[in-house]
Amino acid sequence: MASPRVILTCKHEVTFDPPPSIGDEVYCRRCGLYRIVSQELTGMIRVNCRQCPYCRYYGTDERTANLGASKHSLRMPTHEIDIERDGKLIRTVSMMDVETLPFVVETLKTQEDRWVRALVREFVKTYQGSDASHT
Ligand SMILES: [Zn+2]
Ligand SMILES: [Zn+2]
Repeated sequence: MASPRVILTCKHEVTFDPPPSIGDEVYCRRCGLYRIVSQELTGMIRVNCRQCPYCRYYGTDERTANLGASKHSLRMPTHEIDIERDGKLIRTVSMMDVETLPFVVETLKTQEDRWVRALVREFVKTYQGSDASHT
C-alpha cells in the first residue's frame, strides 16, 4: 500500500523497491553519487489541528484526509487544521480562512452524510449572505 520512497542525505527523494533501511548506502542518480538513506517515506497522511489535540492518521488516501480535516473544521470553525504527508505540509484548512473555505465546502459537498450537508448549507448561508437561499 505505502509507496517505497526514501529521502537521502542529499535531500533527494528516491523510489526503491524494496525500500532500503535508514542508514543504508544507495546510489543517487540525481547526484551521481552514493548517499545515505536518512528518512523513510511511507506516504502516510496526518491531519493535525493547531488549536486542539485532534490528530489522526489517514493512511495514504489524501481524499479521506481532506474530508476528515474538513469535518473537523465544520465542527470547530475557528480551528486551523494542517494536512501533512510524511511531515511535509500539503495544506491548512480553516472555515475562517477565505482562501481555504471554498476547498472545505467543496470537500464536504462530496459527503453523503445528511448532517454534514445540512451544516454546510447553514454555514454557506450565514457567511455568504441571504442570496444563497435556493441551494
Ligand atoms: Zn542526490
Ligand atoms: Zn481542533
